[in-house]
Amino acid sequence: MGRINLERKYDMFDITLAEARLLEWLDRHRGEMLTMLEELVNTDSGSLDKAGVDAVGAILIRFFQRQKISTSVLRDQTHGDAIMAAVQKQSSADSRPILLLGHRDTVFAKGEAGRRPFHIKDGRAYGPGVGDMKAGIVMNAFVLAAFQEMGGQPAPLAALFTGDEEIASPFSRSTIEQNARRALAVFNSEPARANGNVVTGRKGGVFILLEVFGKSAHSGVNFFDGVSAINELADKIVRLKAVTNQAKGVTLNVGLVRGGETVNTVAPYAAAEIDLRFVQQCDREASLSEIRKVAEDCRIAGTSAKVIIKGEFLPLVETQHSPRLFEIYRSAANELGIKLQGEFTGGCADSGFASAQGVPTLCGVGAVGGKAHTRDEYIEVDTLTDRAKVLALAICRLNADQLYN
Ligand SMILES: [Zn+2]
Repeated sequence: MGRINLERKYDMFDITLAEARLLEWLDRHRGEMLTMLEELVNTDSGSLDKAGVDAVGAILIRFFQRQKISTSVLRDQTHGDAIMAAVQKQSSADSRPILLLGHRDTVFAKGEAGRRPFHIKDGRAYGPGVGDMKAGIVMNAFVLAAFQEMGGQPAPLAALFTGDEEIASPFSRSTIEQNARRALAVFNSEPARANGNVVTGRKGGVFILLEVFGKSAHSGVNFFDGVSAINELADKIVRLKAVTNQAKGVTLNVGLVRGGETVNTVAPYAAAEIDLRFVQQCDREASLSEIRKVAEDCRIAGTSAKVIIKGEFLPLVETQHSPRLFEIYRSAANELGIKLQGEFTGGCADSGFASAQGVPTLCGVGAVGGKAHTRDEYIEVDTLTDRAKVLALAICRLNADQLYN
């Protein structure tokens, strides 16, 4: 592809020549970005598939090596390693880095990519994890590469590629928090909403395992010696419906139930997996105490129950300076002819851990798409480069004075 005429393409906007070169670099790498996206989508990387998540990481590390971008790897035995890539800034007034977040894991089991590999149809790209969030990590990688080659970053850039977000980041959370704490600002490249909006607020969530214990017995021979854990769990599930409070934005979903041994055995064990979501952190405590009360209050004599917290996301909340971060991003988008708003969503993400550190955080700056976590997940192909350009331009215009004063 020949070089496009920078002045002609961007001169109607208030964009400097240095910025235009950066944008043009991203335009020119559209093909490479799509090639990497295809490679990433076609590599299975479910959260519990460490080998797969690390294979996605290896593709990124090879790319950074070719781009002469330094990387470091924080290893874990169980989950995908956390990979940090950094582009330095010489003689910067502010040494706090701008942090880009992205996760390499998906919700899909091994074999899914083979069954429905990456493909493009009518301007949309499909495949497991294409929007959530392999497009986002491609964007982050290429935005780093653009600055590495063309310069123009107002502060050092750091990008964290984690491997356990879909299971609430048990390994990566502390790394995200540490890096967010010393960052100037954080962008998380989760997919933009289907209408093009980015995400300025998210619910917090807790994944809970509720276990109920009873006593087994032969259901024909000595039925009345048994104590059914399933019956008690069923009763608890009905009572737990009261935790949901639509006005407050609190929801409780019993997403999985299991229990029992055979059809002719009184069930000695039953369990439910619960997803609690909330807007305000105070509703977390109130809801958890309601859940614990229901767990402790066993209505069937001889049963007992236990509540175990399996995973947790903090809400993405507006901090003092986050509206300014959004304004810088939105005006960059406007200059590139893209109109967008900030939006609240019930979906949880790592951006909650970042914003809880008090750093201005904007989420959903990835490619525009929808239907995440389903077979119909897609992104609008053109937005892969379009949103990378918005992110790059917003980064160019970020400085501590504008953000914090
Ligand atoms: Zn995601």
